[in-house]
Amino acid sequence: MKIAVLGAGLMGRVLSMRLNQSGYTDITLFDRDNMDGKQSPAYIAGGMIAPYSESIMGGKTIYNLGKNGLSLWKKYLNKLEVPELYNDNGTLLLAPPNFSNEIKHYINKINFNTNENNYYQVLKQSDIYDLEPELKYNEGYYLPSEGVVNARDTMSSIGKYLTNHIKWEVNTEISCTHASNEITINGMQQKFDLVIDCRGLGSRETLPDLRGIRGEIIRVFAPEVNVSRPVRLFHPRHNIYISPYKKHHYIIGATEIEANDISPISVRSTLELLSMAYDIHSGFSEARVLEMSTNCRPTLSNNLPQIKVDNNFISINGLYRHGFLLSPTLAESLIEYLSTGNKLYSEIWS
Ligand SMILES: Cc1cc2nc3c(=O)[nH]c(=O)nc-3n(C[C@H](O)[C@H](O)[C@H](O)COP(=O)(O)OP(=O)(O)OC[C@H]3O[C@@H](n4cnc5c(N)ncnc54)[C@H](O)[C@@H]3O)c2cc1C
Repeated sequence: MKIAVLGAGLMGRVLSMRLNQSGYTDITLFDRDNMDGKQSPAYIAGGMIAPYSESIMGGKTIYNLGKNGLSLWKKYLNKLEVPELYNDNGTLLLAPPNFSNEIKHYINKINFNTNENNYYQVLKQSDIYDLEPELKYNEGYYLPSEGVVNARDTMSSIGKYLTNHIKWEVNTEISCTHASNEITINGMQQKFDLVIDCRGLGSRETLPDLRGIRGEIIRVFAPEVNVSRPVRLFHPRHNIYISPYKKHHYIIGATEIEANDISPISVRSTLELLSMAYDIHSGFSEARVLEMSTNCRPTLSNNLPQIKVDNNFISINGLYRHGFLLSPTLAESLIEYLSTGNKLYSEIWS
């Protein structure tokens, strides 16, 4: 079967790799970007695989779709021989003083959405010390079955696999104004047996209710900070995390702003992200800022992902803030559909 995958962002890469590993050999991947993938929000993402934390806002569907994300990433990255890009040390949630009741409300939501009463572990100061000796907080929670991948290096490792196994057309603008297996490539028409559209916000011509949700992050080198797992600070106004991606290197993220705007980070977001990081660990005061970046998350009106089948044109979109969490499950579900016709997780198919 001659397959075109449109978009070499996160979803297009994961899907092309898994299709190829599942025996589909005639795949062409198209993107208007080059192989670095800098136009994809995945290039700046925190890479957190956090089905429990994300169920607080995302509900049961996000939990159900994301709960195998961590084990699938482990399998993928082992197969790519880059197991070091994967960290399954869990997530630490910290409760700032005076927000003890608010965080209990969030924990109740995790219980409700995951049907796992008492899954979390309430931590006292000494427990927090055992997990992260440099963090001085009196109250927190530990979510052991969560983790993080090094997002940028993961994109690049999958990219290397793809250059050796499939055709990849870079700097190539694709246009398809309606669902069809005939697409326009740099102005020329070409037909495939199957077209799978993973163009994120580039698919607005076929998915008009797509919107962009702006996210900003800051990458720092912090030699005075030794934190081994993602740490989230719960706060009524901010949901900020620090995520280690290599020794002494952290992503501080991420803002979430209802705007399709990829202009540079605002002064306000810079102040909020950096002061929250300093609140978590004072060693961030001497960190060096390596990068400040912005991109937009492709989001549908219900904030859930969607696999839409229209004969031999399939689109996968709406990954919102959950691309790393959900792309493995979405890829495996699509491969199952192609071989058996079964639509796993029926609520996301249309
Ligand atoms: C700040 C930030 C932090 C994040 N952190 C996390 C996190 O910790 N965990 C998590 O799970 N998710 C996170 N995400 C979300 C994740 O990055 C996205 O969900 C994911 O990147 C979406 O993947 P996608 O492949 O659907 O779209 P994209 O990654 O946007 O890929 C679309 C691709 O299509 C190409 N394209 C578009 N139009 C065309 C066209 N006409 N012709 C050719 N090519 C085209 C683009 O160049 C791009 O490469 C974060 C996002 C942001 C912005």
